[in-house]
Amino acid sequence: MIAATPSPLDAITTGIAHAARTAGRKPDDITLIAVSKTHPVEAIRPLLNAGHRAFGENRVQEAAAKWPVLRSEHPDVALHLIGQLQSNKAEEAVALFDAIHAVDRPSLVDALGKAMAKTGRRPDCFVQVNIGAEEQKGGCPIADLPALLQQARDAGLPVAGLMCIPPAEIEPAPYFALLAKLARDMDLTGLSMGMSSDYETAVTLGATHVRVGSALFGARGSATA
Ligand SMILES: *Cc1c(COP(=O)(O)O)cnc(C)c1O
Repeated sequence: MIAATPSPLDAITTGIAHAARTAGRKPDDITLIAVSKTHPVEAIRPLLNAGHRAFGENRVQEAAAKWPVLRSEHPDVALHLIGQLQSNKAEEAVALFDAIHAVDRPSLVDALGKAMAKTGRRPDCFVQVNIGAEEQKGGCPIADLPALLQQARDAGLPVAGLMCIPPAEIEPAPYFALLAKLARDMDLTGLSMGMSSDYETAVTLGATHVRVGSALFGARGSATA
């Protein structure tokens, strides 16, 4: 008999479960965020039909164009904003998303606090850490993290945990381990880390949320996208 080739969703779900068990963790404690940025609604529907419910987008505008119709079909979808957020879009983001993964500076904490007070919606917030101290990258410097977390709590943001994007092209494990240590030190349980190329490593090091795009949907901007 010829075994059916597993779908990318099944293969990644299996990979996460295997990595979790290797680390003595429960697969259910990890949320796979399917990063659907740049992909049209027709590419997203098969995952919804397969029962997947957690999705990630990196731009408020694009999410606002794609998700209202999909959500009317599947009201239990959880939408995660994984990209940089401008303060002037905080209110729209709070209205649209269930979690915000790139909270990284005092002005944005301020804007999100006001937007939550005004709308009454309180999406989970992950504070993004510039884990490799890269000049061009978003994220809070490690040294500023305690103050930013305090400000976020004072502003009423539900802080779920920390998020990072390690430097490209080098082994990510030490950066994942460092983010996990920072979260432990600060009594935070959520860890948003790991993408298509390294989600299994991230899970063995404690990720609670992995953000996987191209491994699920194919390369962005290619014929298969
Ligand atoms: C695009 C993106 C991802 C997904 O990247 P893949 O390599 O396609 O899995 C994850 N996190 C963030 C912040 C992203 O912008």
